[in-house]
Amino acid sequence: KQIQSKELIEQNKKEKQAAIEEKAYFDNLTKVYNRNKFDEFLDQEIIRVKRYKNPLSIAILDIDKFKNFNDTYGHDMGDEVIKLVAREILKSCRELDTVGRYGGEEFSVLLPDTNLEFAYTVAEKISSYIEQKIYHSEKYGDLKCTISIGIASLNQNFNRVEDLFKDADNKLYTAKKNGREFTT
Ligand code: GH3
Ligand code: MG
Ligand code: MG
Repeated sequence: KQIQSKELIEQNKKEKQAAIEEKAYFDNLTKVYNRNKFDEFLDQEIIRVKRYKNPLSIAILDIDKFKNFNDTYGHDMGDEVIKLVAREILKSCRELDTVGRYGGEEFSVLLPDTNLEFAYTVAEKISSYIEQKIYHSEKYGDLKCTISIGIASLNQNFNRVEDLFKDADNKLYTAKKNGREFTT
């Protein structure tokens, strides 16, 4: 009996620990990595890449005109679409890619061993998956959204995390300006 209760206590501890880790690593709404955890992966990957000289790309994805979407269909519907976008991003990525929720309606994808050209292909795939996806709402019917993507790769000019993000962010900004498509 003594042993059994000891085991129970251990089990309980483990479950609590797992719950703590879940909160620390994952975004509650979408269950992809949260920003902190994503940044950790990115830092590690950059160290690895500098050593082995593998290519590395990141993509920043932002849902287009999402404020309008919320205003038109409500915040709850917006949340559903954010979840849907997260699922589609996960579906279009490889197992080694890391997906994070970087802000409210913004995601980031870490693409190890991926040069700019291939990152572009991945971005195209994500974008077309999301474009084809329809959210069926009982109240509003079929809803769709689009995203814009900025892509950046590590190279001689951009070899720090900050540079990489700045570059991807600039590309995203350009993509938005040019009619909300993706840009490399
Ligand atoms: P743009 O095409 O330039 O990206 O326009 P936008 O409206 O998407 O950009 P903006 O940054 O102005 O607005 C982002 C909106 O995303 C505002 C905010 O209400 C909404 N948002 C952020 N986080 C969440 C969330 O967790 N749930 C929902 N439903 N909406 C969110
Ligand atoms: Mg945004
Ligand atoms: Mg947006």
